[in-house]
Amino acid sequence: MNRIIPLETKVKVMQESLSLVNVEKIAARYEVSAGAIYYWFNEKVKPALGEILKNEAPGPEGRPDGEVKVTQATVDRPETCEQCGGRRIRKNGTYWVINWMWLLSIGWLVGVQKTIIQRWRCAECGHELVSVERQRQAEARRGWWQQVKRLMGLSRFKLGLSVRKTQILVAFVYGRQVSVGFIQRQTQHVGKRAQAVLERLSDCRQKAAHFLLYDETFPKLGKRTHSLGVVICEYGLIRSVRTIRHKAKDIPDQLRKVVRGHYHPDHFLTDLEVTYGEYMTRANLSLKHLRDIVHLMRQIGRMFDDAVKEVTLDVPKGLPQKERQNQRHLKQRLLRKRLKPLLTTAFKAFAPGYESVCVLMLEGVVSQLRDPKLILQTESVQRLAHRMERFVKKHGPSLNTLVEMAIKTGTPKTTNSLESKNALFKPFSRIAKSFRLATAGNFFAGVALMENFDVKSRGLHQGTSAIQRAEVNLDDLGATDFFSAVGLAKPQISPSAFTL
Ligand SMILES: [Zn+2]
Repeated sequence: MNRIIPLETKVKVMQESLSLVNVEKIAARYEVSAGAIYYWFNEKVKPALGEILKNEAPGPEGRPDGEVKVTQATVDRPETCEQCGGRRIRKNGTYWVINWMWLLSIGWLVGVQKTIIQRWRCAECGHELVSVERQRQAEARRGWWQQVKRLMGLSRFKLGLSVRKTQILVAFVYGRQVSVGFIQRQTQHVGKRAQAVLERLSDCRQKAAHFLLYDETFPKLGKRTHSLGVVICEYGLIRSVRTIRHKAKDIPDQLRKVVRGHYHPDHFLTDLEVTYGEYMTRANLSLKHLRDIVHLMRQIGRMFDDAVKEVTLDVPKGLPQKERQNQRHLKQRLLRKRLKPLLTTAFKAFAPGYESVCVLMLEGVVSQLRDPKLILQTESVQRLAHRMERFVKKHGPSLNTLVEMAIKTGTPKTTNSLESKNALFKPFSRIAKSFRLATAGNFFAGVALMENFDVKSRGLHQGTSAIQRAEVNLDDLGATDFFSAVGLAKPQISPSAFTL
């Protein structure tokens, strides 16, 4: 019996079936008024019967409004087939994709949402046509990944965040997770590209640089401490970063590779480490080797300290140990007091304004040390005079060059700028320990390249980056900032794409 019963019939049947019998009795039992029951029936139940009894359309409930943009997906029917020029374009089903447009623009708000795409097909040749919406979503997908990679670059190479923290940051800003493996691979990839960019620096036209400052820094990667060789010039541009395994082989190789093209410094500034001069020769370079004055001053300070420490006693043997010690301390205090004005003079020689007399002043200190009228010629004092003399002989000429150039051309007297770069790598070594040594070098190259493009917001070089100070030609380099240099330029999406 599948006959369809009209709605009016159903309502009439129900009204008669629900005959109001025994109303008074029921009212008494429930202690309500009979009038109320008649009111409910006539005013509430009867009018609602039509609504209750009508047939529902079969199938599942409709989707709530706003979630799907089917209407929008169907309006962009392509006019002609780009394959055969046919004009009969037919719908060919729909499919769901991630709404990349939303994820890119308001991912933090909506998270991963889907949108429906209408597939179109040419009725003549069967070619599948790409709808406007599909193009738009594909562009947004590329943009999203690019932007996420840029954020990862910032997080890893500037903020120094770990892989896990980077993952949290990406999900927070862009509403979708990326895997730890992806972040690791991407970090290595960018590091490798940064290394290649550093290697290209010497090929770019630039302002002539006269100095090659070299130093090693020792970030701790895991259990072992490794050496990282760093080359910068007087403009503070980091020109090379390399992990050093075998000093005698890797350092000359690093120096050889960095000095070429448009980078031909004439001075090699290092600390007092004795092997650096030899490594420079081994790299077939003949730069004038200069020593950082901070290290030279430290060396002088140490020589004076040694002289005080080496004080000997010539007292009768019988004296008790404690008494001997007291006498020795007394003698040391006296010598320290005697030497103090001489050490002050030696340090003053390095101060600004004394450049032209620096070496002369140091020679003066030597002759004062030898003057018996000024200072008692004990064994330790004689030794100090001898060491100071050798020191002045060894470093005098290069010291003269260094201070003279500092006045004339404003070039550095210290490797301080280099040491501050080294300090830059320190916090990164904590997160770099997950790398093998080879890739750690690339990672630090990424940190270095970021630093090279960093425009300082304070300090001596406020408002400029090292790349700008060294006047590296950006056309030759083919990049204007860190991200474009490593192939992560801003995604190009026209603003109108967001209002479609
Ligand atoms: Zn076609």
